[in-house]
Amino acid sequence: MHIDHIGIAVKNLDEAIETYEKILNTKCDKKEIVESEKVATAFFNTGESKVELLGATEPDSVITKYIEKKGEGIHHVAFEVDDIYAELDRLRGEGFTVLNEQPKDGADNKLVAFLHPKGNHGVLVELCQSKKE
Ligand code: ZN
Repeated sequence: MHIDHIGIAVKNLDEAIETYEKILNTKCDKKEIVESEKVATAFFNTGESKVELLGATEPDSVITKYIEKKGEGIHHVAFEVDDIYAELDRLRGEGFTVLNEQPKDGADNKLVAFLHPKGNHGVLVELCQSKKE
């Protein structure tokens, strides 16, 4: 397992992209909309792990709700796994609350599922697995 990316919730995606292009001194690698989540994403390649900026595309997006409650900031940490189905079974067995019955399509050509922050010391954890070509 390694950290695939850190997800950061932002109010204005374009402004945030500019900010992170300055910080990281690199261009945004990829922009993608995840319709099911009403979220626009922007990825930065930063070596082994990436930064994923998350902006709302609709007022009822999960990101809007998150920012209303907690403000902008780190939204989730994503760990890449080889077999997301096996990992979810294992973690359910350990008593973790998995927020998705089944892994779903996420950004960056991945299958993703989330673990509720309550069981993870306040951090929303994403598991992701690259889709096989
Ligand atoms: Zn993510």
